[in-house]
Amino acid sequence: MPVVAPFYSINEVNKPSTKQVHHNNSACPPGCDIPANERRQGTGNYRLCYDCQEQTNQGK
Ligand SMILES: [Zn+2]
Repeated sequence: MPVVAPFYSINEVNKPSTKQVHHNNSACPPGCDIPANERRQGTGNYRLCYDCQEQTNQGK
């Protein structure tokens, strides 16, 4: 699955800052769980999600 434009959930703001992430891989399970109406384009200045990194590293 491809790397996509970065996006994040509007609910990230409710998480502890250490858990706030953005996503950039369409195969990322937690990224897929974000409903379309809760997605925002961009990184939100959050770090990249661990699952996204793994998916990208594996060439997915
Ligand atoms: Zn992710």
